[in-house]
Amino acid sequence: TNASIQARRDKAFARGMGNVYSAFVAKAKNAEIWDVEGKRYIDFGSGIAVCNTGHSHPKIVSAVKQQVENFSHTCLMVNPYEHAVILAEKLNQLAPGQSEKKSILVNTGAEAVENAVKIARAHTGRRGVLAFTGGFHGRTNMTMALTGKVLPYKHSFGPFPGDIYHLPFPMNIHGVSVSDTIKALTKLTKASIAVEDIAAIIIEPIQGEGGFYHAPAELMQFLRNFCDEHGIVLIADEIQTGFARTGKLFCSEYYDIEPDLITMAKGIAGGYPLAAVVGKAAIMDAPMPGGLGGTYGGSPVACAAALVVLEVIEEEQLAARALTIGEIFGKRLEQIRAKYPALVGEIRIKGAMIAIEFVKNGDHDQPNTELTQQVVANAAAHHLILLSCGFYGNVIRFLPPLTISDDTIQEGMDYFDQLLAKI
Ligand code: PLP
Repeated sequence: TNASIQARRDKAFARGMGNVYSAFVAKAKNAEIWDVEGKRYIDFGSGIAVCNTGHSHPKIVSAVKQQVENFSHTCLMVNPYEHAVILAEKLNQLAPGQSEKKSILVNTGAEAVENAVKIARAHTGRRGVLAFTGGFHGRTNMTMALTGKVLPYKHSFGPFPGDIYHLPFPMNIHGVSVSDTIKALTKLTKASIAVEDIAAIIIEPIQGEGGFYHAPAELMQFLRNFCDEHGIVLIADEIQTGFARTGKLFCSEYYDIEPDLITMAKGIAGGYPLAAVVGKAAIMDAPMPGGLGGTYGGSPVACAAALVVLEVIEEEQLAARALTIGEIFGKRLEQIRAKYPALVGEIRIKGAMIAIEFVKNGDHDQPNTELTQQVVANAAAHHLILLSCGFYGNVIRFLPPLTISDDTIQEGMDYFDQLLAKI
């Protein structure tokens, strides 16, 4: 049973590696998951924005099977293989902007961010890196330092690498404007780090773990100009927003700017560990040969999956589908707002990156963390897999597979309505 495996899990795993649901997975297909007891769930989380192409897409399964039969590992840094080259060529061509691009392949989002910082420092010869409050970039040492939120990601893990600074992320509802961010940057460069010492600025176009706050276009434009003016590398962390999730292949495309480097992971290979840094060739080539990479980076199996993911995104027009999914969820969430006006704060939607914020007394400054955590805790009992996010944990985020059918969305939202009615 789920309960008996959970009891064993709690004994076997360190508590730092928690799990949201005790539904131990037996099988998953497209937007549905079945547990070991045969219970079915609608997956509104996609394994945290990974299965954009759905669970076990037949084309990905067949490409992976074929690759495993050919070979599973030789190490891209020892005996390379052509399909990794084809993948890098495609990523270079698909990344936003006109500049010539180059790529590296690694395993996880955190590793991609680590490497983007290494590349930016090697290119500029500078030390400082600026990130944003509320941002999330991973759980390794450097990425923890870049991450804005302390609990639980940074708690008790210091000291962190130095030369990392945080700017306030503009959020109108909390009274932080773009000009506040710019003022904070000016103050920082006067008091803490000279502009000539800043190697990179890293930003999520939409903060993922932070609560699905959208970076204002004005901020992205400002950062592009500021980085150009001062020779700073602008890194867009598209680990959660990439691969058609927001209605474009990359969310940066919504802003009329070309980031210098883009970090990618999650949706890139539909569930196989793969991540990338893709960026301007002149910057990417700064580190010396052997300075980047790793034993498993660009695994042949993950690369085979990623090539099919790109095909499926195009063939099934998943970017356009993400926009439709956002509209369907938007209507259902507005109905919920009409029903519970005092409980619902902002509804933030960009394609299939969908969030509803729970508050008290209709006030954004009174986050309703208790209600949100109760919704997540009770979701599985209502056949739903849901995730929360946000600085206060008061945001439910919907990240369904982009291959989900209209009927499955409606069925899942019916469960969500029933779940709210019971709390
Ligand atoms: N950056 C962003 C924006 C993310 O959302 C995440 C993961 O949630 C990461 C980095 C870290 O990725 P990983 O968990 O694959 O290391």
